[in-house]
Amino acid sequence: AKDLGGGIFHTYEPQLHVEAEERRVMEIALRRAQSNGELHLAYQPVVASETGAVEGFEALLRWTNPQLGNVPPDKFIPLAEQARLIGTIGEWVLRTACREAAHWPPHVRVAVNVSFEQLHNRNFAKMVSSVLAETGLPPQRLELEVTESVFMNEAPHAIAVLKELLALGIKLSLDDFGTGYSSLSYLSRTKFSTIKIDRSFVRGASNNTPENVAIIRAVVALAESLDMSTTAEGVENEDELAMVRRLGCRKVQGYLFGRPMNATDARALATGKMRS
Ligand code: C2E
Ligand code: CA
Ligand code: CA
Ligand code: CA
Repeated sequence: AKDLGGGIFHTYEPQLHVEAEERRVMEIALRRAQSNGELHLAYQPVVASETGAVEGFEALLRWTNPQLGNVPPDKFIPLAEQARLIGTIGEWVLRTACREAAHWPPHVRVAVNVSFEQLHNRNFAKMVSSVLAETGLPPQRLELEVTESVFMNEAPHAIAVLKELLALGIKLSLDDFGTGYSSLSYLSRTKFSTIKIDRSFVRGASNNTPENVAIIRAVVALAESLDMSTTAEGVENEDELAMVRRLGCRKVQGYLFGRPMNATDARALATGKMRS
C-alpha cells in the first residue's frame, strides 16, 4: 500500500476494486467538504408558464473539491446518503437556502431537495422549524421536494414526518414524478402543492411523441383533480415550452429560463422581475 497522505492509502488491487476505492477517496473528501467550505448552492428559477414571472428558485447543491474538481450531485448525493452524511449536509443546504431566500421579495419561494434518509430523523420537522425561526423565512415560502421513493417499502415514519412539515405551514412537492414505481395511493394521504413532471417526459417533446404528450396530459389532469399544481422540468427550448403550456403545466423550469445561478444573480433576478 502506498501512502497518498492525509491517511489515504492506495492499495494495488484488481480492477474490480478501483471503483470502490474511488468511492472511498470521495467519501473521505466529502466528510470534510462542509467544514472546508467546498459546498455552495446554485439557484434555478421556476417561472409561471403563461407569464414567465419568477415564482421561486430551486436550490441545487454544488461541491468543488481541490483534487476532485466539480463533482456532480448525481454522484455525491447517493454517496452522502449511503455514508450517512446527508443529514448534516442537508441541514446546511436548508439553512443556507432559507437565509438567502429571506432576502428575496415576499412572494418568491425557495425549494429544497430532501432525501428519503433525512426523513428517518425523528427531529427533522423540529430542525426545519428552528431553521425557519432563525432565518426569519415565513414557512409558506419554503417548499420541500421529495421523490416517490419516500412511499416505497411502507414508510409510515417518513409519512408522519411529512405531516409534521405540513403542520408547520411549509409546501411539499413531489419531484421526478413518473420515474418511481410506487402506487398512486399515497397521493390521497399526503397533501402536495405541486407535482414536478420529470424532464424525461419533457425532453423529446420537440419530437412531439404521442406517448410524452399523453403522459403529461394525464399527470396534469390528475394534479388538477387533486388541487395540485404542476411544474414541467427541463424545458430547454421554445417547442417544449409551447407543448407543456398547451398541456396546462402551470410552472416551468429549465435552461430556457435560466441555468442554476449563484445567490447574487438569483437575488437580482428575483428582485428585477418582481418590480412593477
Ligand atoms: P432534481 O431535483 O431533479 O434537480 C433538477 C436537475 O435538473 C438539476 O441537476 C438541474 O441542474 C437539472 N436541470 C434543470 N434544468 C435543466 C434543463 O433544461 N436541461 C437539463 N438537461 N437539465 C436541467 P443537478 O443540479 O445536477 O442535480 C441533480 C440531482 O441531485 C437533483 O435532481 C437532485 O435529485 C439532487 N440534488 C441536488 N441538490 C440536492 C440537495 O441539496 N439535496 C438532495 N437531497 N439532493 C440534491
Ligand atoms: Ca428537485
Ligand atoms: Ca426533478
Ligand atoms: Ca432528478
